Parts: sequence; C-alpha cells; structure tokens
Amino acid sequence: MKRSWNFNPGPAALPLEVLEQAKEAFVEYGDQGLSLLEMSHRSKTVERIVEETERLLLELIDLPSGYRVLFMGGGASAQFALVSMNFLRAGTIARYLVSGSFAEKAYREALTVGQAEVLASGKAEGWKRLPDVRQLKVRTDTAYVHMTTNNTIEGSQFRDFPDTGTVPLIGDMTSDILSRRLDWTKFALIYAAAQKNLGPAGVTAVIVKEELLRAGSADIPAIFQYRTYADNHSLYNTPPVHAIYMMKLMLEWAARQGGIPELEKRNERKIGLLYEAIDAGDGFYRGIVEKPYRSTMNATWRMADEELEKRFALESEREGFIGLAGHRSVGGLRASAYNAVPEEACKALAEFMNDFRRRRG
Ligand SMILES: *Cc1c(COP(=O)(O)O)cnc(C)c1O
Repeated sequence: MKRSWNFNPGPAALPLEVLEQAKEAFVEYGDQGLSLLEMSHRSKTVERIVEETERLLLELIDLPSGYRVLFMGGGASAQFALVSMNFLRAGTIARYLVSGSFAEKAYREALTVGQAEVLASGKAEGWKRLPDVRQLKVRTDTAYVHMTTNNTIEGSQFRDFPDTGTVPLIGDMTSDILSRRLDWTKFALIYAAAQKNLGPAGVTAVIVKEELLRAGSADIPAIFQYRTYADNHSLYNTPPVHAIYMMKLMLEWAARQGGIPELEKRNERKIGLLYEAIDAGDGFYRGIVEKPYRSTMNATWRMADEELEKRFALESEREGFIGLAGHRSVGGLRASAYNAVPEEACKALAEFMNDFRRRRG
C-alpha cells in the first residue's frame, strides 16, 4: 500500500505501526482465542486496558495526583452539553471564551441548560485574533470558565491561559492535546475527542480534578454524570473497548517518540514548514489567522479566489495529499498536522505549495 499524505482535520492520520498493532488485536487478542471486539467489558483484560490507558495518559501529561481520566462516548460535542449539565447550577453563570465555531457551539449548548455568558469573543474580527486572557477578571458567581485551546476550523491556538482563581477552568483540547508542553494544573477539566491526537473516533478522554468530580450534579441521569464514570472506572456501561485500546497504542507510541517535549519540537518544525510556504511570495497564499495566534496543529489559508483554491485542492489530491479543503464555514484551505502526521508529509506539502505558486503565481 502507498500511504497518502493525510492532512485530514479529524478523523485524522494514525501512525502506521499503531494501525498494524490494532490489526493484530482485531482478530485475536493475546492468546485468548478471541478478538478484543468479542470480549466482555467485564473481563480482567478489558479492565486492565482501561486502567493502563488512564495511567499512560496521566504519565504523559505529567499531572500530579488528584486527577482522573474518564472514557466517554458522544464525542467532544457531548461534552459541550455535559459540562454545563454537571457544573452549571442555578444562581451561577457559565462563562465562555468564544474563539471559534466549536467554542461557540459549546456556549450555545450551555444556554440550553442554564445561564451562560461570553467572556470574550473573536467572532466580530472573523476569528483572526484571540482575546488576551492574561488580565481576565473572573467574577465569583462564575460556575466555570470554558475555553477551546486550539480552534481547529479557524486555525488559531491559545498560548496563554487565564488565571481563574478558585473558579474551575475547563478546556476543550480535542485538537491539541499532547501536542505541546503546558501547565495542565491550570485546568480542572480537560476533554478531548480521540480522533485528532489520541486515536480513532468513538471515545473521548476526560481528565478531571477529583474535587470537581465531587461537585458535579447528582440529580441528572446517571449516564450523564461524570461521577458515574469515575466510580465505575469508565465501565458503568459498555465502553468503546477497541477505540480505548487504540488510544492506549497511540499513547505508547507517543511515549516511544520521547513524549510531549519531543512531539512539541516536531510539531513546531512541521507547521513551520507550512507557514513558511504560506508566507513566501507576496500574498499568493494568505494566512487566515494573524501570526501570533496561529495554530501549530491546523494551518489555514486563502488564495486569490475560489477558483484557484479549488484548483489547488484538486491538484494536491492528484498528488496524493488528502484533506486540504478548508471547513465549509470558513472556506479556503487547511492542513491539519497532528502528532501522527510525519515530518516528510509536511515537507512534501510545502514543496507542492511552492511548486504550485511558481506555476500559477
Ligand atoms: C473536532 C472537534 C470537536 C467536535 O468533536 P466531535 O467528536 O465530532 O463532537 C469539538 N471541539 C474541537 C476543538 C474539535 O477539534
């Protein structure tokens, strides 16, 4: 098989070695005479896989004790609702940093549950910039502050995180978890659907402070309470076992690469190649996001007109590049270079971009 240069925004590229490992377990797991997909989630084997995956994730991000990892369904979109269902009480207000369309969706879900407000928004500026969160004042009637650390669709990423004091900070890190070093302890809850940096679609990792777990609503259905997942080690109901297993393989792969410090260096080199190609040559490619706010995961750009953008998408596909069309809501083009996208793929794309510019510029 010739592997494509996969720049899909999500579900996204996975390391070939992880796919090969998963293939084996697909037919028979260990020497057990059956596959993982056929195994009871109450078996010791599955229990161990879930435990191991939790341990590996906490080790990689080097969080001190006091945090738990939950494995949940429904993608990041379910978390938009669950966060407010669990933590938005009457008399308090959930406050949102609306930095992109996923952040806005999260905010809109909170409005269906209780009182929510926008702390700062980048919408009026076409998502080109991020609000300065360093001086943010958070009122004491705030249930929690929610932010999206990397705006997958627009291609922007926060470098700074607000100091929210005793108010829990909640982060949607779906598209940049494990991609860079950061002070994880600033967050009381982090969630990430797996299909960008953690594995296949079907499971969401929720990293949550025990303190916050205990403060969650107890009067909503059990299946929606974070507490239920914590108390039952994510085995309250049948979890997506194979997706969790693949996340475990991804985490082991990440550790073998040298963990977050090494992945971060690689990611900076990778995205650097793409931004260099975008910035070369007098606005043939125009980055959508202003430079200080550019994402290390998703590079977005526009070209002179939609005709040229379409041609770029078409020709790049012919050359074996996948997933470069921008999100339908912003248009243009986007290259998503998550952890598993190899450096060679970014080199090849940068070369293609330079070549295309010379031919069409
Ligand atoms: C992809 C993505 C989502 C949506 O995830 P689903 O699993 O499809 O619900 C939400 N937030 C961010 C930051 C994303 O990148």
